[in-house]
Amino acid sequence: QESDILGFTRIRRVAPVSVATHGGRAKCLQRLIRLDLPVPDTVALSFDAVHRLAEGQSFDMQALLRVFGDAPLLSVRPSSEDPDWGGPGAVLNIGMNDARHAALARTHGKEAADSLYLRFVQTFSVHVERLDPEVFEFDKSTPVAEALKAALTAHEDETDEPFPQDPAVQLGQVLRSMARAWEGTSARLLRQAKGAPADAGLGLIVQAMALGLGPGESGAGVIQLIDSDTGEPMIKGRYLRQAQGREALTANGDAMYLTQDERGCSLEEAEPELFAQLVATSGLCRSRLREEMQVEFTIENGRLAILDAVRAPRSSRAALRAAVQLAEDGIIPKEEAICRVPARSLTELLHPQVDPSAPREVIARGIAASPGGAVGRIVFSSSAAQSFEARGEHCILVRRETTPDDIRGMHASVGILTERGGVTSHAAVIARGMGVPCVVGASIRINSRERTLTFEDGYTLSEGEILTLDGAKGEVIRGAVEMLPPVKDHWYLQLMDWADAIRDIGVRANADTPADAAMARDFKAQGIGLCRTEHMFFEGDRLTVMREMIFAATNEDRIEAISRLLPMQRSDFIELFRIMEGLPVCIRLFDPPLHEFLPADREGAKELAEALDLPLSDVTRRIEWLSEFNPMLGMRGVRLGITFPEIYEMQARAIFEATIEASKHGAPVVPEIMIPLVSAKREVELVKTQIDAVAAAVKNATRSEFTYRLGVMVETPRAALRAGEIAQHAAFLSFGTNDLTQMAYGLSRDDAGRFMNAYVQQGVFPEDPFHMLDFDGVGELLKIGAERGRAARPDLTLAVCGEHGGNPESIAFCRDAGFDYVSCSPFRVPVARLAAAQLAA
Ligand code: PEP
Ligand code: MG
Repeated sequence: QESDILGFTRIRRVAPVSVATHGGRAKCLQRLIRLDLPVPDTVALSFDAVHRLAEGQSFDMQALLRVFGDAPLLSVRPSSEDPDWGGPGAVLNIGMNDARHAALARTHGKEAADSLYLRFVQTFSVHVERLDPEVFEFDKSTPVAEALKAALTAHEDETDEPFPQDPAVQLGQVLRSMARAWEGTSARLLRQAKGAPADAGLGLIVQAMALGLGPGESGAGVIQLIDSDTGEPMIKGRYLRQAQGREALTANGDAMYLTQDERGCSLEEAEPELFAQLVATSGLCRSRLREEMQVEFTIENGRLAILDAVRAPRSSRAALRAAVQLAEDGIIPKEEAICRVPARSLTELLHPQVDPSAPREVIARGIAASPGGAVGRIVFSSSAAQSFEARGEHCILVRRETTPDDIRGMHASVGILTERGGVTSHAAVIARGMGVPCVVGASIRINSRERTLTFEDGYTLSEGEILTLDGAKGEVIRGAVEMLPPVKDHWYLQLMDWADAIRDIGVRANADTPADAAMARDFKAQGIGLCRTEHMFFEGDRLTVMREMIFAATNEDRIEAISRLLPMQRSDFIELFRIMEGLPVCIRLFDPPLHEFLPADREGAKELAEALDLPLSDVTRRIEWLSEFNPMLGMRGVRLGITFPEIYEMQARAIFEATIEASKHGAPVVPEIMIPLVSAKREVELVKTQIDAVAAAVKNATRSEFTYRLGVMVETPRAALRAGEIAQHAAFLSFGTNDLTQMAYGLSRDDAGRFMNAYVQQGVFPEDPFHMLDFDGVGELLKIGAERGRAARPDLTLAVCGEHGGNPESIAFCRDAGFDYVSCSPFRVPVARLAAAQLAA
């Protein structure tokens, strides 16, 4: 009978078994029993009982054994709340002893009896009593009877005791050793790494064995109804004769397939009735457990037993297809399909990936800055990257760190690897924007003069040699590894359609170039939330004009250079508006410090002096004059806009003229103009006055009408605190959480990578705050800014456009805080769309 006092429950159709008290496997077995499947007698031990066992409390094993009738053989398997948290391995054939061996030899044959006893002596000695495994290993040529005798002798030699014969003693020891293994330090750390709480419990399942060995058709296997890699519906699995548990999965040559088999011996052909019964059972499990399951079965002398079912193993791609297929079949609602696909797993699907099953030799690790896999020849400069690209060769740009000067090289590369930097360093932000795999802050040494790359073990590569990057894992891998192509199939598109229909927070993309914008459309962003206009100045011959502007000797010269930038910007914007077809486009005025446009070394300065026809000393003096101790906190953003108003005027004019032009041919455009790095209301007033004047002038000159929205980027703590007064002049506030994090912590986003690992490892920060929004500190600034802004202006639009915008946790935070939309790199748009839908489901 069942006994709650002893802490075990016989699983029946009606029995108090739950995931929270007995674990997932126990609950699943109860479901299988409710489906009237041939499940052998099963008992579940609760978390509490297992914990007490681990503490040393003794139990009446006889009472437990009585549930299973006369002289049973039993198995014990773990049952934790979440199967991903692991657990001790199963122990089978408990109850084997000399008497049972003799009886089995009569009913199942000597060979099967020997084999069962041997398996148990081996498992018990090695995994329960923790005796030396080598002593219990025998090669395949040793006859089973001999091996059994040797194993029993070895046990006696090692322990000075004969092999325990009492099933109650055996069972007690097995249960206790599994309970203790769960509470051991290494098991605890392992599962905590997978998200298990510190006090996660373990339940244990004791089940009568179906033998799988002996006369007639006997064996064991697993079956599932999808392909684990693609999710395609098909009957998959393995069956092995004269076997137990999951042996069929590890026996390479001997196991048979369930359906077709090139050797012509599938289970379907050998045992058509059993096969049909299995397929029907799997189908029933799928529809009633509402999940793609992998069913573990045993055939004992022609009779089928269902021992267990677990979620069928699956790749991200298969998980998505399975969820959509279940919803399309009416088995689960769409909302549930949406919630079953981890939003982050989409990133994997949308980039080529390093084949997870291909062998890889990791030679360096760094921060996983932009996902996807890349194979290419290493280059150490942007010019080399461009010449490789021109020759049609894939290359990986390797730099100590990247600067805006490297943009063209980055565009020409299939992957980016840097020695320095963190998740919001230049290389990381640009690479994510472009969807190019990137690893930053890697344990590598670059010798730019020799053009070599050296790894910690001394292995050195020269320019042109091949490497593989795994941007999702932050790994640098030796040689060329196989890639898997990205997927955008029916199931992906269907899931995303459902997601868009229920989500209630907008998702835009950060896009700077027409190519980015096209990608943003492709990923169904609802507009551009951040166009970093300065990136346009690094394209083609614009850099030269930009530099002429910086070196202008007089105001007139500066205005002249700027006027040459105007048509280029205008055509950029026309192109963006055209691609976005009336969707909102939020253009940020010029932001970076000017020195970023100047060469970083003497060689570059010399080239520039030649190009500008100036003495080298003039050029170096100018570079020195522009250099700042703390450029990210210096003359950049609106400070530059106010000091050199011509730049913003030119940009505003380009935006308005493009607006008129694009509206002639397509949907009317209402541009959004955003002022970066604001910290005071007066800055906004000054820029607003200036831009309004440009708007009036353009309207006058062209006799056209248009409207525009002016907004402010909240990137300084002061702007968040003063959002009330700033919002009086702003139609929207967009929080730039990269700079806001940098300034809230006083932590350079370009240098944080150097010590971030140590900080996170020692628990100073729970996570890299540039990666995961710091809800407590930076988050409070967001909330304060949002509240004060909305209080002053109820129709204020609120957005986030920092790197955090694509992160599911930040999206939840922003949605709770009443934000209208998030904006992130195009490649993260699908993740954001799905994550947002999961919040609303
Ligand atoms: C930010 O600071 O969050 C932002 C979006 O701007 P940038 O990354 O260009 O500084
Ligand atoms: Mg910024």
